[in-house]
Amino acid sequence: MDKEKYALGVDIGGTNIKLGIVSETGDIIFSTMLPTNREDGPDEVMFQLKKGIKETISQNELDIIGIGIGAAGSVSSEKGTVSNPPNIPGWGVVNVVDIIKKEFNLPICIDNDANAAAIGEMLYGAGKEFNSFALVTLGTGVGGGLILNRKIYQGDFGAAGEIGHISIDYNGRLCNCGSKGCVEAYVGNHYLVDIVKEELPEHQDSIILKLINNNTDLLTPKIICEAAVDGDEYALFVIERTGFYVGSALSSVGNLLDIDTFIIGGGVSAFGQPLLNSIRKTLKDKVLKTLKHRIKVYPAQLKNEAGIVGSSSLIFYNS
Ligand SMILES: [Zn+2]
Repeated sequence: MDKEKYALGVDIGGTNIKLGIVSETGDIIFSTMLPTNREDGPDEVMFQLKKGIKETISQNELDIIGIGIGAAGSVSSEKGTVSNPPNIPGWGVVNVVDIIKKEFNLPICIDNDANAAAIGEMLYGAGKEFNSFALVTLGTGVGGGLILNRKIYQGDFGAAGEIGHISIDYNGRLCNCGSKGCVEAYVGNHYLVDIVKEELPEHQDSIILKLINNNTDLLTPKIICEAAVDGDEYALFVIERTGFYVGSALSSVGNLLDIDTFIIGGGVSAFGQPLLNSIRKTLKDKVLKTLKHRIKVYPAQLKNEAGIVGSSSLIFYNS
């Protein structure tokens, strides 16, 4: 008899819905994905979601104890609603849990994807040993999850932890959210690429230009990373500056909540040690004295699988 418990984890992304069956110890037993089809509206996205869940359950004869769902945007885990996810335009407010519950007779938990990733890191990853920490995901957007005393802090309406919209310059770059100087407006994928595009003409000797054949449309954070690995001075400067921006925002999180541990995930975290070192140094420079010597910065341990493991961990966390 197989006594291990399993949860079905679902990550609703802007491009793909990823699904997986994860054991209580955080191992992925099965994974699959299907297109989100976001351009066809929320009904189609929900159709794809149900289809994915149905297929995943029918392809596996495991004892699944619940379905955990992670989604971008403001997510009320109490009501089961997902509001205006930035990666699915025109979504509005949808009660995802009510719709899924009608078809599947299983407990369902839902949370913001960064919160799910933070819970995943707490149960299985870099946050295992810590009582409190902040997770920041550096990707297209900058997400955040706050673990306080081994519990996720969601806020009254599930919108807590928006580290990306901490302003590091009150009169700075315009952010998607309408405010100015949000850290996301400097380090979010598209913003980061835009800034480098603006600056590249002044860095004619940078190998970034060779890597993209002088076509700035080809520029991605990955290219900047490649240039840095090859020792490109400008690329290394960009990475260090990214760390400075992120560290500046995180210093406010540290001071506000007396949090000394920070876990860095998401695609841009592929900048690796130079990024982590810069975040760490900035934090130590900027936080109040009481925090300075306690500052710890770690890379997230759940990488590509963070979405599936994070969302399935909602089931084990809540059961
Ligand atoms: Zn903003």
